[in-house]
Amino acid sequence: MGSYHIVVMRGDGIGPEVVREGKKAIEAALERVAIEVQFKDVEVGFDHYQRTGVDLSEEDMESVRGADAIYFGSIGLPGITLPLEQASIGKLRQGLDLYANIRPVKLYEGVESSLRKAKDLVIDYVIFRENTEGLYTFGKGGFLIGDEAAVNPLIISRKGTERIARAAFDMASRRNGAPADGVKRVTCVDKANVAEAYAFFHKVFGEVSEEYPNIKAEYILADAMTVHMLQRPEHFDVIVAENMLGDILSDLGSGTVGGLGLAPSMEVGDRHGLFQPIHGSAPDIAGKNVANPIAAILSAAMMFRWLGEKNNDAIAMEVGLRIERAAELVLAMKRVRTPDLGGESSTAEVGDAVAEEIQKGFFRVFSG
Ligand code: NAD
Ligand code: MN
Repeated sequence: MGSYHIVVMRGDGIGPEVVREGKKAIEAALERVAIEVQFKDVEVGFDHYQRTGVDLSEEDMESVRGADAIYFGSIGLPGITLPLEQASIGKLRQGLDLYANIRPVKLYEGVESSLRKAKDLVIDYVIFRENTEGLYTFGKGGFLIGDEAAVNPLIISRKGTERIARAAFDMASRRNGAPADGVKRVTCVDKANVAEAYAFFHKVFGEVSEEYPNIKAEYILADAMTVHMLQRPEHFDVIVAENMLGDILSDLGSGTVGGLGLAPSMEVGDRHGLFQPIHGSAPDIAGKNVANPIAAILSAAMMFRWLGEKNNDAIAMEVGLRIERAAELVLAMKRVRTPDLGGESSTAEVGDAVAEEIQKGFFRVFSG
């Protein structure tokens, strides 16, 4: 029987509110299935930092190394600055070598896109954001020159680029191609025209693409890409980009499929995995029970699908699929939804509705 240790990091702002609903969905899906899951709460965040002087302690970091997965909310509070090298999210990404930040952009039935023509389109692509180098070095390499200047290196390594490019091509091999034309396609997004580091990313991506003759490799410069994502989103299948560009483009992508409240992610390396919505702590709506928990719930679904695949555990995979299907159903029914989607339901009501769908799903399965 599969047995998993999951570290839960709620964090700041809406983090705890959406994680609570994600756990609700997980617990509903785990009823009457033959896997065992143990949760361990680990405190992180700016609030934790303010109280204790650390965001993520070394001791907790050690216990995280032994976990099967991390389920994360979000961190950050206005008015508190934290030394970048201390930030939990940087420590986790670099310490656990979570090099692939995988962010699906998918328009679900029942969700209105901000793109007027999207009602006739299928939007369904995945962004692979390199997650350990690029411009985000988390205190390793950035420096100030007195009070006169600040420098951040853009670090692109061959190894870092090869592995994110391979992960993207491997994903494209398993998918059905772009909605527009069925072509299996990986789009490399960079600014090779203006920075050596991006030109190197571009070149190494090209070398990796030769290992995948059946998948179309294409290149689009990052500035133009923002327009393509708005004007022909159905063209895309898998997109790969440096850390900061992937960060920005995935928030933009979420805006075309209903917003940040619906956008999940997984951050994985060869051994560890961290699962969190792509949004931040949303201090403007924190504590009001209005945050959309679907992104966090879909991240939980990705966590179980990943655990299932990694451990060859069909039940864990099924748990993930059921959570995803239930979230999809709640969206399609358009009845229970938070204000960001034009509804009036609370965070907890959406979580309850998803848990209820999961339980109904069980009834169908177990009663034959
Ligand atoms: P944000 O993603 O927190 O919020 C942007 C906007 O989207 C806000 O108007 C917010 O209300 C809305 N929004 C976000 N999630 C939502 C949800 N689930 N339901 C409904 N509306 C939602 O970005 P921000 O305001 O730029 O950043 C706030 C803080 O979060 C900052 O401290 C930032 O550093 C931090 N942050 C953390 C992470 C992380 O923990 N991984 C990621 C991004 C930003
Ligand atoms: Mn971001």
